[in-house]
Amino acid sequence: MSGAEAPAATRYEAVIGIEIHVQLRTLSKMFCGCSADVASAPPNSLTCPVCLGLPGALPVINREAVRHVLATGLAIGSRILDITRWDRKNYFYPDLPKGYQISQYDLPLASGGSLAFDTSQGPTSVSIRRAHLEEDTARLIHQVDPDGRRVSLVDFNRSGLPLMEIVTEPDIRSAEAARRYAEELRLLLLTIGASDAALENGQMRVEANVSLRPVGQSAFGTRVEVKNMNSFRSVERAIGFEIARQARALDAGETLVQETRGWDDGRAMTYRMRIKEDSDDYRYFPEPDLPPLRTDPAWLETIRMGLPELPATRRARYQASLGLTPYDAAVIVGDQGATRLFENTLAADPSLPAKKVANWVTGEYLRLVKPGGSRGDGEGGGADGAAGAGTGGAAGGRSGSELRVQPAELAHLVRAVETRKLSGTNAKEVFRRHAETGESIARIVASTGLQQISDETALREAVRAVLEAHPAAVADVRAGKGQAVGFLTGQVMKQTRGQADPTLVQALLRDALAESQD
Ligand code: ADP
Ligand code: MG
Ligand code: ZN
Repeated sequence: MSGAEAPAATRYEAVIGIEIHVQLRTLSKMFCGCSADVASAPPNSLTCPVCLGLPGALPVINREAVRHVLATGLAIGSRILDITRWDRKNYFYPDLPKGYQISQYDLPLASGGSLAFDTSQGPTSVSIRRAHLEEDTARLIHQVDPDGRRVSLVDFNRSGLPLMEIVTEPDIRSAEAARRYAEELRLLLLTIGASDAALENGQMRVEANVSLRPVGQSAFGTRVEVKNMNSFRSVERAIGFEIARQARALDAGETLVQETRGWDDGRAMTYRMRIKEDSDDYRYFPEPDLPPLRTDPAWLETIRMGLPELPATRRARYQASLGLTPYDAAVIVGDQGATRLFENTLAADPSLPAKKVANWVTGEYLRLVKPGGSRGDGEGGGADGAAGAGTGGAAGGRSGSELRVQPAELAHLVRAVETRKLSGTNAKEVFRRHAETGESIARIVASTGLQQISDETALREAVRAVLEAHPAAVADVRAGKGQAVGFLTGQVMKQTRGQADPTLVQALLRDALAESQD
């Protein structure tokens, strides 16, 4: 077989590095007192001389934004420099009123670190190069006005919002691993409260640098930067497309150019946006209006002590001390609502089997949160232990907070099933009603009569009646036709409106049939 016939994946190795920008969760902007709550504010209502870039306005550092970057750095094992610096990144564009962006160049707040996660190929980890702080740009809105002219509008509400940029080493080798990295980073940021990190509204922006090299070659090939992916699915698809496109170009003997390409989700392809600038073009230089920033070691220690249990630690604990499967642990930890419900249900009744509680959370609870998308939906699920990104981007689902599930009530429910006061099927119905209304399990069971009948005397009566009513089936059983037992059990279940304990019914049926035979 000639080399050209082997599939691209065996001839080329993909080299991928990811740059992610996230809006940090703060009350005010990065360098001024304007509110950072821009979600529903009218355009240009949250501005001041600083974030409009008016001459003479001076920046003041937002301490909370610095804290979020330090917390992120500690969570991923970065080195935190004692002294960091602000730099001006110069470029000319209508979204940048000052003509420069205050950022960090060679002395970022956090350097190095790594993030570990699972993929369908097994566990992996990505080295992180740096995490730094900068300010966001204004938002450009391109539209056609009523006269049919194409206009570009500028909304400065976003100008000056705190942004953290996290850059990986070119460590990633597949589109799937790139998606999983981004999902895991989002989960980490949500867990430590640094960002709400929703891709669909631009709070988290993922850019992927993608190049190919012939297998066995150590030098990197020419890279292309891909942007405009607004879902995790798009991240994986865009990189997959780019790998295939570059492989075809290299096969055809073409020379790739370093460029920035956009992802067009509708057409499922990337397109050229611009030939990439080099960092020289930005003429970075130290920001004269801000002194270097010294990190107080005592403050850093306080931040470290305040970190919550991180997702990787939590997954490991769920497996090691609660006996959950890697899959269940990943699904629960992948969703903050699910994690809280699981933890609080076990806290309400620590004697419950954790696996049973996990089944309710990954099954019924997540089914309600994201209909058609909890277990085994193929996107991020599967037997590999890698779970999807949680409810954040669930289209058509509801947020866990719209559901009225009380952990103590779920604990009652699991207990009721364990002690066979409720059948598995009826318990699901009871749970659904509880989740919708918040009504207690006890009241729902009382008002719907869904409790399981495990009272032998009552069931013996029902069994007797059914045997009397179906002599033909009884004869079939005697004649050795096993299915007839199933039919009779079904009849008893029907008579008791599904409330009978089916195991008990079968036992009673067997007893009754044996008795009447003598
Ligand atoms: P820039 O200054 O253009 O942002 P960097 O050197 O800082 O470029 O790298 C940006 C990202 O690109 C990093 O995540 C890095 O790992 C990745 N990267 C660098 N070289 C390559 C390459 N040849 N192929 C794929 N990714 C790369
Ligand atoms: Mg960059
Ligand atoms: Zn302002």
